[in-house]
Amino acid sequence: MTTTAARAVLAGLDDLRPDLEGLYRELHRNPELSHHEVETAAKVADLLRLADFEVTEGVGGTGVVGILRNGSGPRVLLRADMDALPVKEATGLDYASTATATDKAGNPVSVMHACGHDVHVASLATAATLLSRGRAQWQGTLVIVFQPAEEVADGADSMVADGLVDVVGGVDIALAQHVLAMPAGAAYTRAGAVLSAADSLRITVHGRGAHGSMPQAAVDPVVLAAMIVIRLQTVVSRELAPTEPAVLTIGSIHAGSASNVISDHAVIELNLRTYNDQTRTQVLDAIRRIVVAECEASGSPKPPEFEMFDQFPLTFNEDEPTAVVRQAFDDFFGADSRDLPLQSASEDFSDIPKAFNAPYVYWAVGGADPETYAAAEKAGTVASDIPVNHSPFFAPVLQPTLDVATRAMVVCALAWLGAPRG
Ligand code: ZN
Ligand code: ZN
Repeated sequence: MTTTAARAVLAGLDDLRPDLEGLYRELHRNPELSHHEVETAAKVADLLRLADFEVTEGVGGTGVVGILRNGSGPRVLLRADMDALPVKEATGLDYASTATATDKAGNPVSVMHACGHDVHVASLATAATLLSRGRAQWQGTLVIVFQPAEEVADGADSMVADGLVDVVGGVDIALAQHVLAMPAGAAYTRAGAVLSAADSLRITVHGRGAHGSMPQAAVDPVVLAAMIVIRLQTVVSRELAPTEPAVLTIGSIHAGSASNVISDHAVIELNLRTYNDQTRTQVLDAIRRIVVAECEASGSPKPPEFEMFDQFPLTFNEDEPTAVVRQAFDDFFGADSRDLPLQSASEDFSDIPKAFNAPYVYWAVGGADPETYAAAEKAGTVASDIPVNHSPFFAPVLQPTLDVATRAMVVCALAWLGAPRG
């Protein structure tokens, strides 16, 4: 049933393909940093209006919401993220970005769609147009969300905080996808944990500053921080079961300004990835316990400070809605409906369905040239030869990536919207 409706709606894709590819190239050439997706937002708002959606702009900064009411029936939300990254593109493509911008710290940076959010935007805008033109095939309410600032973890939250739920009313299911460095032409699904929860933590520990020649007058925060760094390596290795994946990386450590001065504090920044709430709490508790105890062991004059930042929620596909998506993909894509391996990256998409108290499904589409990928797989060189998201060489092949991403959105939306009744 869904497949019949999907084929009818997607019959229009042949006509729209030049626009889809043109839009993708335009977006790729003109990437915008998180929270600055001004031109991208204006473009998609125009496209939604052309396709008869009620459009609300400026939700959570640059967020755009389109609503198409087509009789009574399920309310389905489709979301794409719009932001690019401060990366200097090195793909050599004829539509490569040469854009520059100023980052938060005021430094000039190159900007690139190195995570493929341009694929998400172009395919969702096209799917929205197709579903609008093919509205005789379904009944219900279609909600399109173009979200800012996924890369900095607060775009979904900023839309929610700015009244997304009031703008939309309610939804019964929320759907989103990501292009990944896997063979193009396929759609990849997975039930359970899909993407990790991520937490960044800034820890400030205190010592007592003194002359470098007088350790007796000091509490040295460099040695204290070093002890903490070493001891934190034991959290994942010694406190979690070997079957429980987690990553704890200390990415930054700063103390002192001269070789002969003992500093009075040190700042440690770490990043944590976990796949369930219990493990996340357990690891965060262990970090706190170890830091507090090491400060005490060093005779630190005041307690350490903990500041959480850049937090991404866990992305977890519940069994029931995931089975609906998988069935729809199996029916439509056949052998190109495949299993998605567990991903270590993170996403803030699930903050949107959480605000609506609605279930969600998150899936992936491939973007790597299938022949190049197969050759790399055969040679055992996938890790070195296939550029991943955030690489300056990340370059999804235009097709079949864009077609599959567009089809996946249409097929999934129709799995809930279904056929018109009566
Ligand atoms: Zn990314
Ligand atoms: Zn991304």
